[in-house]
Amino acid sequence: MYRTHTCGELHIENIADEVILSGWVQRVRRLGGMTFIDLRDRYGITQLVLDEKAPDDLKTTVDGLGREYVIQVKGVVLERQSKNPNMDTGDIEIEIRSLKILSPSLVPPFTIQTDTDGGDELRMKYRYLDLRREIVRENLVLRSKMAIAVRNYLDSQNFIETETPVLIKSTPEGARDFVVPSRMNQGEFYALPQSPQQLKQLLMVAGFDRYYQIVKCFRDEDLRADRQPEFTQIDCEMSFVEQADVLDTFEGLTKHLFKVIKGIELNEEFPRLPYSEAMEKYGSDKPDIRFEMLFNDITSLVKNRDFNVFNTAEYVVAICAKGCAEYSRKQLDALTEFVKKPQIGAKGLVYLKFNDDGSLKSSVDKFYDEADLKNWANACKAKPGDLLLILSGEKEKTQVQMSELRLEMAKQLGLRDKNVFKPLWVVDFPLLEWDEETGRYHAMHHPFTSPKPEDIELLETDPGKVKANAYDLVINGVEIGGGSVRIFDSKLQAKMFKLLGFTSEQAEAQFGFLMNAFKYGAPPHAGIAFGFDRLVSLFAGLDSIRDVIAFPKNNSGRDVMMDAPSPISDEQLRELALKVKLQEDNDKEA
Ligand code: ASP
Repeated sequence: MYRTHTCGELHIENIADEVILSGWVQRVRRLGGMTFIDLRDRYGITQLVLDEKAPDDLKTTVDGLGREYVIQVKGVVLERQSKNPNMDTGDIEIEIRSLKILSPSLVPPFTIQTDTDGGDELRMKYRYLDLRREIVRENLVLRSKMAIAVRNYLDSQNFIETETPVLIKSTPEGARDFVVPSRMNQGEFYALPQSPQQLKQLLMVAGFDRYYQIVKCFRDEDLRADRQPEFTQIDCEMSFVEQADVLDTFEGLTKHLFKVIKGIELNEEFPRLPYSEAMEKYGSDKPDIRFEMLFNDITSLVKNRDFNVFNTAEYVVAICAKGCAEYSRKQLDALTEFVKKPQIGAKGLVYLKFNDDGSLKSSVDKFYDEADLKNWANACKAKPGDLLLILSGEKEKTQVQMSELRLEMAKQLGLRDKNVFKPLWVVDFPLLEWDEETGRYHAMHHPFTSPKPEDIELLETDPGKVKANAYDLVINGVEIGGGSVRIFDSKLQAKMFKLLGFTSEQAEAQFGFLMNAFKYGAPPHAGIAFGFDRLVSLFAGLDSIRDVIAFPKNNSGRDVMMDAPSPISDEQLRELALKVKLQEDNDKEA
């Protein structure tokens, strides 16, 4: 037997028990003639003690121990002389009677403790050591608990968990596919699913009625902190439902998770905000509604003076930062620098201070008189002590820029409290999005999303205006999930493909199986997928999804631990009938 107890289990009631523990050496301390060892496993840390009078061979073994050695100890539980209230097992220690080294360790490349000295890349390379740290492990324990809570809830709602294949045909979710060459069908490729979208729709045609799967999805995109090339979705689909049924069911799931995982009761119904309103008020389709600081469109109030920037602007928008009139020159300059960063791209920032004494001071005093400024302040419901921040330009771009500034101001004002959770549904998304580059419409969600029935006629005349039965769940400015009511009529689906620029041959080649299935009695259906990694990181109070993934990839999509991707052997290439021609070879030939 390797152990009778774990390292987090022994307490005062175990005094005088003979026990066996196994674990990793966290550290060894010598004090006078005594030696103390912190022994660690998943469950905690227990102090071992070796008395001065211990036999010599035992002392020699202990002397040879280093950090991260795996050992097995037999001993007796003693009450500690000096207790450690910060440790769960701090009332006891184990007097070592015998000790066996199960596995030695090299000196680890960084310290295995909460505030480690290891940098990001190093910890990724030795991820198995990083995972020994309590704070990292806790995130994965949380993830496991959440997955179980998801399954319990969905099971209680009659959902059937069904696996779908990983080697499939391309399913468009707006990203690039990862592809896998086929050996048995030379020259042909599988795509890894960007999501199981079409398969879950086929399960509805199959009569499954309610499907879910906690499933890996793969998208070959440029990476950011909250993106990984492979990520996990809670993927769901339901039959004979309308939008409201899906929202109710998944609002239920969200509330269930908050309750069982965080002990938070979200009693209110989540607000349902149309996309257009989200854009007008927050400049974002994933608004953080923990705080207000709403957009004020002041375009009509700033025209016809000598300020050309505003005169020529399509859109002028202000937010009111409460109590910030005292911002110094330096702070305002820093905000200007912030909006001018290339990622944000504003040309400049105009401010208006509504001083405590009621006077108004702006960066455009030259062009506007007191009455003008007063009008702006009124439009924004500003009070003495407040600061207006104003951006202008082309409408869509300016909305995005202001939404970044709004978040930055909220951060500076401490309004983005990680312990406050404010979910909402954003609904009524546009069906299509015009893409300047390709000069074509793209599906904003995906091509299987149904237009609002009352807008179907607009498909012919003004496709850009058509709204979709599509919805997103947003919590604290993070898009947690999204879905839609689906098209279940093969003719409407064909029309949609045409609108998206597919010829009927292309649509047939790529999606024929789905359109065909719809000819055999397709139920009305709708679905949703939650980003599971994001949900866990939100619950853990983290900004990056990497910390909730056991073996994540770095920003260039590399697994630095396994060193993947990597070249394959000539033999493997031959079997696949593939030849690799790198861009540099092409360049050389040219
Ligand atoms: N397949 C969609 C996605 O991955 C979700 C859905 O529409 O159910 O975003």
